[in-house]
Amino acid sequence: MSALRQRIIEIIRQEGPISVERYMALALGDPQHGYYMTRDPFGASGDFTTSPEISQMFGELIGLWCADLWLRAGQPPISLVELGPGRGTLMSDVLRATKAVTGFHDALQVTLVEMSPVLSDIQKRTLGQAHPHIEWATTIATLPEKPTIILANEFFDALPIRQFQKRNQAWHECLIGVDDDSLVFGLAQEPMRMSGPGGSEGDILEYAPISETIMRDLARHLVQFGGAGLIIDYGYTQSGFGDTLQALKAHEFVNPLETPGEADLTVHVNFESLELAARESGARAHGPITQAELLDRLGIDTRVETLIRKASPQQANDIRKARERLIEPTTTGMGHLFKALAISSNDWPTPAGF
Ligand code: SAH
Repeated sequence: MSALRQRIIEIIRQEGPISVERYMALALGDPQHGYYMTRDPFGASGDFTTSPEISQMFGELIGLWCADLWLRAGQPPISLVELGPGRGTLMSDVLRATKAVTGFHDALQVTLVEMSPVLSDIQKRTLGQAHPHIEWATTIATLPEKPTIILANEFFDALPIRQFQKRNQAWHECLIGVDDDSLVFGLAQEPMRMSGPGGSEGDILEYAPISETIMRDLARHLVQFGGAGLIIDYGYTQSGFGDTLQALKAHEFVNPLETPGEADLTVHVNFESLELAARESGARAHGPITQAELLDRLGIDTRVETLIRKASPQQANDIRKARERLIEPTTTGMGHLFKALAISSNDWPTPAGF
């Protein structure tokens, strides 16, 4: 049994059943055994692959998205913030693609918000000399007080959520308890006083208070100092019912309660609630649109052609395949399931692609 599973069982035996939110926070972020705290989960030999790991084109196009915004915003000194940078691949591609934009790198201060010591070490190695002003932070609490561009790819899906299930006309919080030596799902006995969400017997309702709080804080920061943000993730654009908690290990779905700390645990992002949180805090929201629409509008096909011109037949094939994985709107492709939401302050231009 994993060390963390044993620890969670002990916590539940002492304190009683825990919420899905607490379970996710422990499974992903426990300082000693949490999934992200102990490993590099990306790539073919890891548990999952993300867009920047599939192709450099993703980060390059986002780099040009940033530089274009900065130019149209009047070229101010700028703080570029990435939330949950993984291996640092996206930022590395962003910085490389924008090197030739006159003045951009000189205006930049880069902040990587990362809770994992293992991943921030890898980011330091990836980014090496990519820019003279790169800092690391573990939360968004102390972002530089100046115009800001925020990037977040597959960050919000890793933030803990609460779940509720409708039973006997009332919503009960989903809890995790212990049966023999196994972790099992159950429901709180006391119903929640919730008005409004409707739903039928057995429906699951997800609520992401941590994501909403982070979104509100980011939006307030942009409103105060000027700037924009780009959030890309898998998720849905209209609130609804359904259980989206999933665990991935070695690219296969596994039971989320089986191996906490050893499998990636994610949820689908509720883009409607993120958009509302941003608007409520005074920011403008653009989209959400699909990842396919965004990359298409930012010119992925032109980038493919340019790269292919200098590529071997094998490399050209790989580039075409990567393009497909990033933008194909099939059920398994990222083009449809992945959405992009932009937010901005009123005094900044509308971001490219939206
Ligand atoms: N953006 C990267 C990695 C996505 S995985 C990519 O696209 O490849 C999620 C990332 O968010 C990891 O770097 C993880 O350590 C980080 N993360 C998860 N929860 C976090 C939190 N609460 N605070 C800061 N970083 C977090």
